[in-house]
Amino acid sequence: MNQQVTPTISLNETISTMGYDDPQNLSVSKARELINQSIQPTCTIEHLPIQQALGRVLAEDIVSGMNVPAHDNSAMDGYAFAGNTLSTVEEVSYRIIGKAFAGRAYQGTVAAGECVRIMTGAVMPDGCDTVVPLEFISKASEDRIHVAPGCVQPGSNRRMAGEDLRLGKIALRRGKVLRPADLGLLASLGIATVPVQRRLRVAFFSTGDELRSVDQTLDEGCIYDSNRYTLHAMLTRLGCELIDMGVVKDDTVTLEASFRQACEHADVVITTGGVSLGDADYIRQTMAQLGEVAFWSIAMRPGRPMAFGKINSNGKSAYLFGLPGNPVAVMVSFYFFVKQALLQMQGAEHAPPLMLKASSKHAIKKRAGRTEYQRGIAEINSEGELEVSITGSQGSGILRSMSEANCMIVLDHDQGQVTAGAKVMIVLFEGLI
Ligand code: AMP
Ligand code: MG
Repeated sequence: MNQQVTPTISLNETISTMGYDDPQNLSVSKARELINQSIQPTCTIEHLPIQQALGRVLAEDIVSGMNVPAHDNSAMDGYAFAGNTLSTVEEVSYRIIGKAFAGRAYQGTVAAGECVRIMTGAVMPDGCDTVVPLEFISKASEDRIHVAPGCVQPGSNRRMAGEDLRLGKIALRRGKVLRPADLGLLASLGIATVPVQRRLRVAFFSTGDELRSVDQTLDEGCIYDSNRYTLHAMLTRLGCELIDMGVVKDDTVTLEASFRQACEHADVVITTGGVSLGDADYIRQTMAQLGEVAFWSIAMRPGRPMAFGKINSNGKSAYLFGLPGNPVAVMVSFYFFVKQALLQMQGAEHAPPLMLKASSKHAIKKRAGRTEYQRGIAEINSEGELEVSITGSQGSGILRSMSEANCMIVLDHDQGQVTAGAKVMIVLFEGLI
C-alpha cells in the first residue's frame, strides 16, 4: 500500500531544472512551485458509501445518469394552469379540477380556464406551465379561484426538469474534495457509492531533547510538546490516516531509525524541530542520508527553515517535510505549504485559499523581501466593512497568537510597512463548517 513512485527524473533534478533562486533565501512562491512540480499523485482508488466520503478526494468524474429534477415541478404550494391564459389588465378566474401532490401526480390534462391545486415538488400537470402561490389568490368558491392581473408572470414558480443536474453532463469533477453539498448531490442522482482516493498515511514526530508529552512529568528546563497535537488536529481535518510516532531525541541513531520506520509505513513523513543550524539540529544530515532532500531557508516569517524531499528505506519511499520547531512556524508552514502538497498527492484540484481584503486597524511592522504571516482578528466594523488587527505579540513561539486569531494576515514578499487604515490581505481560518 505504501507509495512506490520511482520517478524517471529525480526530485533534485526536477528542482534544479526549475531554477532555484537562492536556497538560502527562497521566496514563498518559488518554494511552493518547487514542491508543486515535484509531487506525483498517489492514485489508489477505493469505493466508499457516500456517508463515509466526506472530505475525500473524488477519483473519477461523475456523469449524471438522469435529469434532476426528473420532471418539471412546482416550486410553491398554489394553483397550476397555462400561463398564456393570464391577463395583465383584468382578473382571471379558473375552475379547480383536481389536486397534484409531491409523489402523486395529477393524471389528466388541464384546459384553458382550468387549474389544479398543486403542492411544492408535485409534477406539473399536462397543460400547465405556471403556478400562482396560494397566498396570491382569492378563492371565489370551493372550486374556483381568481388571479389578480400582474400578480404572477407566465412560467413562474415552475422548476424545469434537469435544471439542477442534466442527464449526460458532468455533475462533479475528479479532484474535488467532497463537501456536504456534493454528497447530497450524489444522493440526488441515486448514487450510493463513490470512487475516492485512498487516505494518505502520514507519520509524524517531534524532535527535541527538551520535549515531554502531555502525560509525562515536566523535568527542569523541559517543555511540553505542542506541535504533535496541532499537527494531529490539522492532519485529522485533512482526513489523513495518522501514525503518531511521539517525541524523538536529538541523536542521529534514533533519528535515522525513526525516519526509516516512518518511511516504511507512511506516504508522507512530517517532523518538527531540529532543521535550523543549532548544535543539536541533526535532522538535515539524517534526512540527506536517506534520500533526496532539499533544505531551504524560505524568505518568510515565521517558518524560515524547512526541508522538503523524499526518503527511502528498504525499498519503500515517502515524501518528507521537515518543519521548524517553533509552534506558530509549524502551523504556518503546514497551512501554506504542506496542506496543498498533501491534497495534490491525492490528486485534488488546486484551490488556493480565498484571500479577502481588509483594512488594518493599526500600523504593522513589515520588512520588504520576505512574506510575513501575522495572526489577526478580523471583524466587521460599524460601517459594515471588514477590518483586522493583529493579536498582540507575534513571536513564532507564541501559540496563543494562533489560538486567539480568526485569520492570517498575509503580507507579501515585496510589501513594506503597513500604515493604519491600509488594506491588507487576509485568509480566514474557518468559514461554514
Ligand atoms: P528547534 O528548531 O528544534 O531549534 O526548535 C525551535 C524552538 O521551538 C525551540 O524553542 C524549541 O524548544 C521549540 N520547539 C521545538 N519543538 C517543539 C514542540 N514539539 N513543541 C513545542 N515547542 C517546540
Ligand atoms: Mg530542537
